Amino acid sequence: MGMDLTNEIYVSDMSLSTTMSKTVHETVNRVLEGKTISKTESYELFTTGDKNLLLAVAIALRNKYKNNSITYSRKVFINLVNLCRDSCSYCTYKKEPYEKSLSLLSPAQVIAIAEIGKKSRCTEALFVTGERPEQKYSEVRSWLRSNGHTSTIEFIREMSQSVLDKTGLLPHTNAGSLTKEEISLLKDTNVSLGMMLESTSERLMEKGMPHEMAPSKNPKLRIKTLKNAGELKMPITTGLLVGIGETSEDILNSLYVIRDIHKEYGHIQEVIMQNFSPKPHTGMAKSLPCSQYYFLKSVAMARIIMPDMNIQVPPNLSPNSFSEYLDAGINDWGGISPVTIDYVNPEFAWPSIKSVKDITNARGYNLRARLPIYPEFLQRKDYVSPKLEFNISMLSDASGLVKEDSEN
Ligand code: SF4
Repeated sequence: MGMDLTNEIYVSDMSLSTTMSKTVHETVNRVLEGKTISKTESYELFTTGDKNLLLAVAIALRNKYKNNSITYSRKVFINLVNLCRDSCSYCTYKKEPYEKSLSLLSPAQVIAIAEIGKKSRCTEALFVTGERPEQKYSEVRSWLRSNGHTSTIEFIREMSQSVLDKTGLLPHTNAGSLTKEEISLLKDTNVSLGMMLESTSERLMEKGMPHEMAPSKNPKLRIKTLKNAGELKMPITTGLLVGIGETSEDILNSLYVIRDIHKEYGHIQEVIMQNFSPKPHTGMAKSLPCSQYYFLKSVAMARIIMPDMNIQVPPNLSPNSFSEYLDAGINDWGGISPVTIDYVNPEFAWPSIKSVKDITNARGYNLRARLPIYPEFLQRKDYVSPKLEFNISMLSDASGLVKEDSEN
């Protein structure tokens, strides 16, 4: 296990105290004592605190609040419909109807993909769609009609039930911003949902910015979705996309918003920190990638602001350096698929689970497979639909992690 550095970086460490301002020094000590710090204090820590200091604090907190395991979810990616009513200028997921890689899956295709996942010992069926594609594309409306539906969410509900019945894989849906009614439609068939907040910055929606053409990325709407899930006691994964033009203050604001929503509802199961990487043929193809220095500090701040939260960084977006995230306080690698590509980031292949295991072990941690719902939610009243309990029990052990850990 990574060493508990609490004592090493406490106030008595004179080598650090010579390079730290008095207030940063005091803030670090308060964090390590388990006290909450204000946004202003976080800002000073983030912008003036030494990177190594932030990482050491994040590791100390990670080791205090989490056990020796780094988790991942073994998943199969069901790319249900990759049309989207929005256009984000970094996206390569969204397609147009004339493109070869258009996906409008039939029920038989969905089950065939889930079966492949089952054979490879996956436990998560990840359903992904663009944002409300039926609002923009007649192709989607006819596809839904031919399958007996008028909305993508209704179709996901039916497909989730089929996957549960035919394969036992546990559905987790990422379909963007959702109303309360839509989330309640998924509550009996999905163990959790995912929706990236990305950023609370409304400036990113202005002319020339990445969310100019993406009304669903309006932070107010994303926050509303997170609250809708909270009111319905639906476990949800959310997070930030770092390096798309936001400021340091925006990063902290976004982390504090997530923390405060979780404080109010208690349903956020994981915070993903995702680093922006420019992709060819997108509006941001010529933008600089998020620097590793800035990103590591951002990940450490997520741990500092939410010490007991599950913090994830996907390993595939940083193929040569993802081990460094273990030094920034993460405790999860997210979904990794042994059988399907990452359709959201098709430019980045998944590392093998074996290589993720080796890297995790080399830092002194164990790699454990988890379900798409975190163990801490399994015992909480109303967070799991009774209709999902049997499927969950078939896959989980007493600790709530995957029964037979599949590591190769
Ligand atoms: S990132 Fe999501 S919302 Fe934006 S264009 Fe791509 S699929 Fe649509």
